[in-house]
Amino acid sequence: MTMIATAESGGIALNGISLTYNRKRSTVSALQGIELDLAPDDFVCVLGPSGCGKSSLLNIVAGYLEPTEGTVLINGNEHTEPNAQVGVVFQHANLFPWLNIAKNIEFGVKMAKLPRAERKRRVNFYLDLVGLGQAGALLPHQLSGGMKQRAAIARTLATEPRIVLMDEPFSALDALTRESMQMHLRRIWLQTRKCIFFITHDVDEALLLGRRILIMHPNPGRIVQDFVNPVFVPEGEFSFSDARGGQAFAELRALLISQIANGSGNGS
Ligand code: ADP
Ligand code: MG
Repeated sequence: MTMIATAESGGIALNGISLTYNRKRSTVSALQGIELDLAPDDFVCVLGPSGCGKSSLLNIVAGYLEPTEGTVLINGNEHTEPNAQVGVVFQHANLFPWLNIAKNIEFGVKMAKLPRAERKRRVNFYLDLVGLGQAGALLPHQLSGGMKQRAAIARTLATEPRIVLMDEPFSALDALTRESMQMHLRRIWLQTRKCIFFITHDVDEALLLGRRILIMHPNPGRIVQDFVNPVFVPEGEFSFSDARGGQAFAELRALLISQIANGSGNGS
């Protein structure tokens, strides 16, 4: 009952999701029995060893992949194919190299057939939000990796989806850039309070960003932990390096690392 209520009030509900991949000689139970409720302003980080079904789950929520069983409800309606309610950011920005940054961001908004003035407003608003207010006229090759990824985030946000799905969006970036991107994303979330579903294999990243943390294990892919992050800072900006140095943070990091490792061997 609560699941439906949340989905109807603007959130997302996954009900009994299972996914089986059929291969030539075998089948893989990539996901089994996934039950999940996301509030409209959640920031959920998903942790788990490689192969536990994180990307498969994201692809189902995006509407790219049909589950073998179960349903995805967005705002109370069944979601079965990609649409503007769900935005996705991948590991690589995939900007159009021949369009400047503003035009790249406008591209998704054009698809939504919005009037020109509203398109311009959104492009400018989201460029500013990701800190690229001065970079709209540049071409992608003139941007650093972090800036490209911020442009990709702006492009997704500009379509004003209910939920933004991110599949290890910072894992291709160097450590310093990654930290600055984490800061940016936190600021963006504080300002927009969008529902963010964020896959990472970096425990620190999950602890710094996620209001809620899910841990998945493989064989079959399933959610084994779903908890409110006790070291989450609900308001304002804070020093990530100070946070990492805290005792509660260090203890939780060690615990999560061992829980993830438990899921990586034989899938027990
Ligand atoms: P993660 O993102 O956590 O690494 P994936 O969702 O990519 O996990 O994969 C989950 C499981 O499903 C793995 O065992 C993987 O090998 C398998 N898998 C993923 N995509 C396919 C596919 N297209 N065909 C067959 N098996 C797949
Ligand atoms: Mg993956």
